[in-house]
Amino acid sequence: MSLNDAAKTGKIAVWWDMKECPVPEGIDAHRVRPSIEGGFKELGYSGPVSITAYGDQKQTPEYLLRALSSTGVAVVHVRSESTCAVMYEHMMNWREENPPPAIMMIITNQMLDVFDWDLARLQQQRTGYHICLAYTIRQRAELIVDTRKEWLWEKLLLGTTTSTSAGELSTVFHCEYCSLDCQSLNCFKEHLSTKKHQLQEVVRPKPTELVSATKRWGKNYAATPEYATAKIHVWWDMFDCPIPDGYDARRVRPSLEGAFKELGYSGPVSITAFGDHTQTPKRHLQALSSTGIDVAHATLGVISSRIFDDLMEWRGRITTPATMMIISDGVEELIAKLQQRIKFNLFWAYSCRPWTMSVVLTSAEWLWDSLLAVSATKRHVLRNCSASVVESTGMFYCKLCYTKRTLLDKFIKHLSSKKHLSQEGCITDRRRRAKKHRLFWLKEYHFPKSKRLKNAP
Ligand SMILES: [Zn+2]
Ligand SMILES: [Zn+2]
Repeated sequence: MSLNDAAKTGKIAVWWDMKECPVPEGIDAHRVRPSIEGGFKELGYSGPVSITAYGDQKQTPEYLLRALSSTGVAVVHVRSESTCAVMYEHMMNWREENPPPAIMMIITNQMLDVFDWDLARLQQQRTGYHICLAYTIRQRAELIVDTRKEWLWEKLLLGTTTSTSAGELSTVFHCEYCSLDCQSLNCFKEHLSTKKHQLQEVVRPKPTELVSATKRWGKNYAATPEYATAKIHVWWDMFDCPIPDGYDARRVRPSLEGAFKELGYSGPVSITAFGDHTQTPKRHLQALSSTGIDVAHATLGVISSRIFDDLMEWRGRITTPATMMIISDGVEELIAKLQQRIKFNLFWAYSCRPWTMSVVLTSAEWLWDSLLAVSATKRHVLRNCSASVVESTGMFYCKLCYTKRTLLDKFIKHLSSKKHLSQEGCITDRRRRAKKHRLFWLKEYHFPKSKRLKNAP
């Protein structure tokens, strides 16, 4: 049974911010549980559902609390300003106790602003949790957290329902400040109005900012046995991370291998150098190929998509543990998303250090220039590595014409051939047209003619 199949019967836990996403007027709160269960059933998930509603329960009408508790929705009292932080803390505890496959559903409008970064990193560390989301306001930008399903809260509440099994559930009212559970609404209500409780809210306030679970995670970990001798494949974007002036290109491979060895990685390394190779000096191409580095020609406009295609093809093909390394700036969001579904061990090198901690979770990161300096400073490592330098030479690929050559001279000839130039011209034209098209729609969408005319002097 695959992990995906196993998730279909896995536990479903729901964290619901009642203030952000209240039960809309006119909808019976008894529908909350059966609607959520119905929504999951439609997706093919059939595991047991636990729901916890977070909010300032002193403000919640009694009929609502009664409806929720009678349908097996647990209720937590927490002041509004601390809701996200407490929900997240509870999620983290739950993850500790419930290994994947399992389903996490979060009902909130704060996914993008509050949870996204940390949760996306957690998901890369431990894949196998399916994340679902419901909101009343659609987020204004794309999430990095890989969600399996997103619902509009009201729509979900009005959707299919299942007959609920609430009778068997033990409902609990929980006061977060006093760490107190009540079994009955009356006892809970009474507790919230006591002096003792009110004092606790003041002297033991809950955090208002989310406590990150991943911020303290370091970088450049030693290899785990699983990856110590596994394959390493490197995608190198030479536009972002070029060979520095005066640098001997033959040192690229031993530098990389030296850096990997320092962390305990000694598996076979394959490298593909993507760039506009009509601009790369012939001696560099010669040097790369002679050290077993594949060379792939792509122009600036298409290099990212060609690297991405190559990477996807590789990820689909590799079935054993392996390390992927990206040498490029600004690809982290895409990679962070991929890594949440299928996780490979990941290295990253960039031309300048990101100004904040990246959302992509890596096992090692390097500054490109300092990575290249490894072979110069660690001569002993270089000597050890040179034994492993691959005997075969690197291939030459044209990623515009999808053709390859084994000899450098033939490759250079290809890049100046009529056939290649016409293909390059086609791609440039197509990109130019697409850009114009996009601009046209952007203009029409943001400044439609009607508006433009009206506003015209
Ligand atoms: Zn209390
Ligand atoms: Zn070509």
